[in-house]
Amino acid sequence: MVVSGEMYELGSRKSTIRELFEYGKQRAAIVGKDNIFDFSLGNPNVPVPEYIKETIFELLNGQDSTSVHGYTAAAGDLESRECIAQSLNERFGTNFAAENLFMTSGAAAAITICFKALSEKSDEIITFAPYFPEYKVFVESVGAKLEVVPAEPTNFQINFADFEERINENTKAVIVNSPNNPSGVVYSEKTILKLVELLKRKEQEYNHPIFLISDEPYRELAYDHVPVPYLTNYYKNTLVCYSYSKSFSLPGERIGYIVVPNEIVDFDVVYSAIAGAARVLTHVCAPTLFQKVVAKCAGKPSDIHIYEKNRELLYNSLIEAGFSCVKPEGAFYLFPKALEEDDIAFCERAKKYDLLVVPGSSFGCPGYFRIAYCVKTSNIERSLPLFRKLAEEYTNKGKTEII
Ligand code: PLP
Repeated sequence: MVVSGEMYELGSRKSTIRELFEYGKQRAAIVGKDNIFDFSLGNPNVPVPEYIKETIFELLNGQDSTSVHGYTAAAGDLESRECIAQSLNERFGTNFAAENLFMTSGAAAAITICFKALSEKSDEIITFAPYFPEYKVFVESVGAKLEVVPAEPTNFQINFADFEERINENTKAVIVNSPNNPSGVVYSEKTILKLVELLKRKEQEYNHPIFLISDEPYRELAYDHVPVPYLTNYYKNTLVCYSYSKSFSLPGERIGYIVVPNEIVDFDVVYSAIAGAARVLTHVCAPTLFQKVVAKCAGKPSDIHIYEKNRELLYNSLIEAGFSCVKPEGAFYLFPKALEEDDIAFCERAKKYDLLVVPGSSFGCPGYFRIAYCVKTSNIERSLPLFRKLAEEYTNKGKTEII
């Protein structure tokens, strides 16, 4: 082949989510965009906060253009990192400074940089189903292996029995995502305490560090004041991967960061490896304007009332229609049980009603499906009769007839 076969595969084979999104656009051109209910993509629909817009204009009008559009240090603008560190310290009682942060182009870059910085061949990285499907691509891109612990479907917390079986001397890191995409579940403090107790025990047993990577783009999207534990406060070998894509509705601006706490084993070595990985992956000097924007707005509240309203409406209506689902406490996803064993067949059937939902198999959790409810509330309202009709197909006719 004239190109790398592996890269060709990755580039030509779209993810299920992207495929559905493309299908939605084609279908909208035929039936009209109000008649297609695209719940496939986690693209925030809450408007960008006014304070972000004002800050952008202030920066564009107020400073010399070379400062807002020029290169920053590879790790990011010093003053911006300082502001973000201060804001984290105020909110989570941490003791970070600029030196603990590395600015990145969103969480995707942050995660890939961490995987690249930490892993050598034959290393394994563990995650828990249901999980963000890109982890597999990111882990494999650095030559490591992703190990998936099956889901704990009663509450989508961690399946510890399976985890303990899978962790071994090759485990280099464990990646968690809470609030979770796709389940919307927030890991409780009890879960975190159990997780770190096990990790500490295994670090001693294998006599090497096991890093905990906290992928947390949905941290601010938590409902009913549910606490989202800040993991560096629980486990010293933690790396935090954060993104402003969801909290400030800025996914297209590609801005986030990695936190490397002082307490991590061999801080200088780990931070240098992060810098090296960012260099190789060409993720140095994250977008300058947006480094400055998010630094000036760090700690400002996110508007989550639309997501909260959508969650209530959709969750209550689906339960009424006969679906079963763990009530999400965060993010903007619902992960109900599919009404037949084959989640892919179920999602195909949903398409008949122009309901675009993603099979749980894409997240390592067959038998379920994901609804991204970051859409207009009126769209959800209009989709409810269709979800009811879909459910009725199963209750009225019985599975054997409809297959
Ligand atoms: N991690 C999770 C769990 C996500 O859901 C996403 C995006 O949807 C990302 C990482 C990547 O986010 P970003 O836009 O910051 O790269």
